[in-house]
Parts: sequence; C-alpha cells; structure tokens
Amino acid sequence: MSGAVVVAWLRLAASRVAAERVHLTDLDAAIGDGDHGINLDRGFTALEARLSARDVSTEAAGPLLALAGRTITGTVGGASGALYGRALLRAAAALDAWPIDAGPPVARVAAALRAAVDGIAALGRSRPGEKTMLDALVPAVEAIEAAATVGADLADALRQAADAAEAGARATRPLLATKGRASYLGERSIGHLDPGAVSSALLLGALADAAAGGV
Ligand code: ADP
Ligand code: MG
Repeated sequence: MSGAVVVAWLRLAASRVAAERVHLTDLDAAIGDGDHGINLDRGFTALEARLSARDVSTEAAGPLLALAGRTITGTVGGASGALYGRALLRAAAALDAWPIDAGPPVARVAAALRAAVDGIAALGRSRPGEKTMLDALVPAVEAIEAAATVGADLADALRQAADAAEAGARATRPLLATKGRASYLGERSIGHLDPGAVSSALLLGALADAAAGGV
C-alpha cells in the first residue's frame, strides 16, 4: 500500500468521522458516556492539520501510519483513543518490518491489519463477542486474509473486509457488553449498536474507498 493511499484514507476518514460525529456520539450516549464522535472528530481534525502541515507526497505508508497513531493516541482520549492509536502504531510497525517482495500488496496489508487488531485485543484484553470494536474488526481481518489466500487484489480484498466490518457492527446490537463503559449497564446494553464497532466499520469503509480510488 502506497503512502498516497494512506493519506487518502486518513483524509477520507477525517471527513466521514466529522460527518458522523453526532451519530457516533448518540450511539455512545445510549450505552456509554456520549463522547465517541467528539473524541474521534477531535483526533482526526488534529491529524488532518498535521498532514496538511507537511509534505506527505513522498512519505511511505509506515511512517504515515505511525504519525497517525501518535496523533490519535495523543488527542482522541477515551478508551478508543488508546486502542485506535495502538492499532495504527502496530500496523505501522508491521508494514515497516515486511520484507521487500514477500508476497503481493494484499498480503502485506492483511498482515498490517492483523497486527493492528491483535494490538487492540492485547491492550483491551478483549475478544470478539464482547460488544466492542473487535466485533467489526476481527471479521474484517478474517475477510482480507481469506481474500488474500485466493489471490484477490487489494481493492477487492479491502471491500470484502469493509463489508464484513459493516455486518459485524450491525451484529453487535443483540450482544451483552462485557468490556468498556457499556459493560457497566449489564443487560441494558443489549439492543444497542456498539459505537466503536460502528466507527471501525466507517474507518474500514474509508480504507476500501481510498484503495479503490487507485491512488
Ligand atoms: P470511552 O468508553 O472511554 O468513553 P469512547 O467512547 O471513545 O471511549 O470509545 C468507546 C468504544 O471503545 C466502545 O464502543 C468499544 O467499541 C471500545 N472499547 C472500549 N473498551 C474496549 C476494550 N477493552 N476492547 C476493545 N474495545 C473497547
Ligand atoms: Mg465514550
């Protein structure tokens, strides 16, 4: 994945997070503390400013993701800031460590997404089924890995990952939250979408669209 795709993704994500700020915050108001959209918008606005302040045209994907990880960690706040920040830093490290010519781009991106999701699970001590962002992200990683195995190109594989994230986010509604603030509600968390799963689907949808844009 080129640095240009990463920049296109982060910018598209920033504009979609801004557009969904109220929706994400409303979802969090139902089962959390009502700040998820505000938190993410603050972070992506700061990231957009940092991207605009430097010449990103020649930067590689790994360092750009590391910049995003540091920015999100430092500005988002809440559980999601630490978790998304860690994910971006893990993805950056995975891309940097990937040997040249070790498989097609889709395999490299699948490895980066796997590292990102493993980073979230380790930091959050969480796994799928607990009504968190992992309920969108783990199916997405499984989808891109499956697509990579059958030789799909990167744009197709990311589209399948984004679709899986969307389905995973929708499937959080009947779940009982056992991690994060929503777990304080116990049974009353049932019947609501998890805000972090919805934002994860948004971020992966933006990634698929950025990759399809051919930059
Ligand atoms: P906070 O809960 O601190 O207010 P946010 O509202 O920004 O932070 O983010 C809440 C989201 O973070 C949840 O919807 C959930 O998806 C995710 N989350 C919280 N705790 C965990 C965890 N331990 N593992 C994975 N995701 C988590
Ligand atoms: Mg919150």
